[in-house]
Amino acid sequence: MSQISRIRGTNDFLYNDSRKLRYIEEILHKKSRIYNFEQIRLPIFEYTDLFQRGIGEETDIVSKEMFTFTDRGNRSITLRPEGTAGTVRAAIENSLLNERSINKIYYIGSMYRAERPQKGRYREFNQYGIECIGSDSPHTDAEIIALNLDILKTLSSNLNCEALSILNLEINTVGCEKCKPKYNDALSKQLASQKDKLCTVCQNRYDKNILRILDCKNEGCISILENVVKMYDYACDECKAHFNILCDALNKMNIDFNINPKLVRGLDYYTKTAFEIKSNYLGTQSALAGGGRYDNLIGIFNNGKQVPAVGSAMGIERLLIILEDSNFDNTIKNSIDIFVVLFKETSNVGIEIINKLRQKNVSVESDFNIRSIKSQFKTADKYNAKYALILGPDEVLDNKATIRDMNTGDETKVSFETLESVILSKLK
Ligand SMILES: [Zn+2]
Ligand SMILES: [Zn+2]
Repeated sequence: MSQISRIRGTNDFLYNDSRKLRYIEEILHKKSRIYNFEQIRLPIFEYTDLFQRGIGEETDIVSKEMFTFTDRGNRSITLRPEGTAGTVRAAIENSLLNERSINKIYYIGSMYRAERPQKGRYREFNQYGIECIGSDSPHTDAEIIALNLDILKTLSSNLNCEALSILNLEINTVGCEKCKPKYNDALSKQLASQKDKLCTVCQNRYDKNILRILDCKNEGCISILENVVKMYDYACDECKAHFNILCDALNKMNIDFNINPKLVRGLDYYTKTAFEIKSNYLGTQSALAGGGRYDNLIGIFNNGKQVPAVGSAMGIERLLIILEDSNFDNTIKNSIDIFVVLFKETSNVGIEIINKLRQKNVSVESDFNIRSIKSQFKTADKYNAKYALILGPDEVLDNKATIRDMNTGDETKVSFETLESVILSKLK
């Protein structure tokens, strides 16, 4: 039978990588709790309709990146490409929006997009997302931005990662339903004469979703857009005030930021605030985290009743790439307390001792294949064992064992009676 390989664009997170993920996740949980966000866990697949209506038919995600299939009941199902639509669906379906005035939600989980796989961009990837539903205050936008930065800075300092200490926060306003059309008009008029010079993707965007032209990476489009009209100049008073208060709040929190008038993000549902946190390390294309306000999304699923909300998502695989240049491997190094060296005659006594120690929360490993003493010590080193407990046949007959300090090589003989207490005191 031929070998089966994993699907292109997916990853196997083996021991070390899995520990790294867990370390990051622990920080995500801890920081989320400090800002009083609560975790939810939602299905990985949803009805396709949720994403079509929530994210927008014209977005890249919905038009070409979703993993969609028909199930046995002939329903169209999609693997979630992002977390916001599902969160909104769950909040409405479980009546969360009625119970609390503000819901602060976070999630950590895998998302699926059929993109061309490259470093930091996978078809199955892990995302940390936060959503604050029920407030129209620009201060909640500031809070979301602060939490993202807090996480990245904590990882940077804990793991001594310089690349993560140099971050660039970009913010913009994309307007609301009142002022967005005016801006779209102005943009459309300004670009009309140069429409032919835009890339083919942007020519299509020009008619369907003109805002998306602003973040085109094509050199020709970038130069055409150099002196393009700015959203802020067309924003209504409410959107202007919202943006000004956000800037003021960021200043008060000593958070540096750059205003990027071309930052629109790839999703239709954003209103007012859009933001991205970039690291120079990943190149200009890649944001580590990004998000924005979506005051007009919830009404789509809530019988037209709008509830203001703001949220963000952070890509965990991209973090892992940045953290390659850090102390990560040393910080998460796995170790065990005791490696028990066994002989054929002593494995029966061994299992009894091993079990007793584990009941006392001592981490213990041994080699029941009873390979040579030399290879058992090699294994002890591989697991970074603090001590080896050697159960030699003659010693065991005498109710004794030898404890070796794996750092110093010092050995002490201990009787079975005192074994447990000696080990516990050494591990203190
Ligand atoms: Zn507006
Ligand atoms: Zn273009």
